[in-house]
Amino acid sequence: MEVTDPKLRRCLTGLRLPRRVEGVWRRGKYIVFALDRGFLVFHLRMTGQLVLGEEPAEGARAVFRLEGWVLSFLDRRRLATAEYMEALDLELGPEPLGDLSWLPAALRQSRRPIKLWLLDQRKIAGIGNIYVAEILFAAGIDPRRPANSLRPEEVQRLVRAIPTILKRALEHRGTTFSDYRDAAGAPGEFQELLQVYQRAGEPCPRCGASVQRIELGGRGTYFCSRCQK
Ligand SMILES: [Zn+2]
Repeated sequence: MEVTDPKLRRCLTGLRLPRRVEGVWRRGKYIVFALDRGFLVFHLRMTGQLVLGEEPAEGARAVFRLEGWVLSFLDRRRLATAEYMEALDLELGPEPLGDLSWLPAALRQSRRPIKLWLLDQRKIAGIGNIYVAEILFAAGIDPRRPANSLRPEEVQRLVRAIPTILKRALEHRGTTFSDYRDAAGAPGEFQELLQVYQRAGEPCPRCGASVQRIELGGRGTYFCSRCQK
């Protein structure tokens, strides 16, 4: 392991090498490397990249040498995180690609705007600002609606839209506006398929009305006020 970013060095204290990687998985928006002792946890945020190659990538903040491979951690804006944890403690809600039968009852407990509820990683893990816009468009739900105001048929549309949008994005290897790259270093393609996100003023692909942009909870929020009620 070579850590060039001092900010990162602090988060990785306690990580003693060499370590054996026993498993790698995603939990919410985190990428977790289970080691023979403890966990190495990455969150890529806006501009982070984890790239596997034969040589260290140029400009890497940290480089992890595996047997036969080099894992480079890059991040132009230094917002991504890498952290060593003795015990895995991420405080996350259930996964969005698993069983969602718990969702209707959970939504009835909250008056928060449905968009902000879905972004709350402690409620449901792994949905970010891009995908929440596309999910609510697919479900035809106004992002400002209180979670507990959704009718049963609207909740069912949401339950269908969440895995549909996320799986479609995964098939297209994610959304790349600038820095996002998959593990092989290639950009995603889902940005070509976005219906409302960052399309303010453009015609709604379903009805032709102009896509709106508002701020909700400090985040840019895109929707069609004709299709999303
Ligand atoms: Zn529309």
